Amino acid sequence: MTMARFTPQSEDEQFCRGCNICCTWAGDVLFEPRAIPVIAAYLQMDERACADAFFDLHSDRWHFRAKPNASGGCIFVTPSGCRIYPHRPRQCRSFPYEWQRREYGCMRRCRLYQALLRRSHLH
Ligand code: SF4
Ligand code: SF4
Repeated sequence: MTMARFTPQSEDEQFCRGCNICCTWAGDVLFEPRAIPVIAAYLQMDERACADAFFDLHSDRWHFRAKPNASGGCIFVTPSGCRIYPHRPRQCRSFPYEWQRREYGCMRRCRLYQALLRRSHLH
């Protein structure tokens, strides 16, 4: 796995096309345990019902992992975006600045990531 770190710049927003493709890739979306009651309240659900509906215990036995949807992407993605956007976890907030998998072919489909790569090659 290779990781690059990019510094966010205000003009970067123009490059994200809001395609939500990054939410449809297969892979673990991890949440701290303290996020579950916050998300349950946001969704106006009972905490246990929310945990059962949307989360599995990750193999590290500490984090919760969003269940995959029928296509293998994150269960919280909808046609209009993230269902829990204000409470999305750090790996989502930091994508593609901090969390990314350069070796994944799907990164080529992220217009923002490609713009950041071009910028980094200019320096
Ligand atoms: S939690 Fe929201 S932002 Fe993160 S992958 Fe799922 S749908 Fe996307
Ligand atoms: S970060 Fe990339 S993949 Fe995600 S919505 Fe923006 S352009 Fe699309």
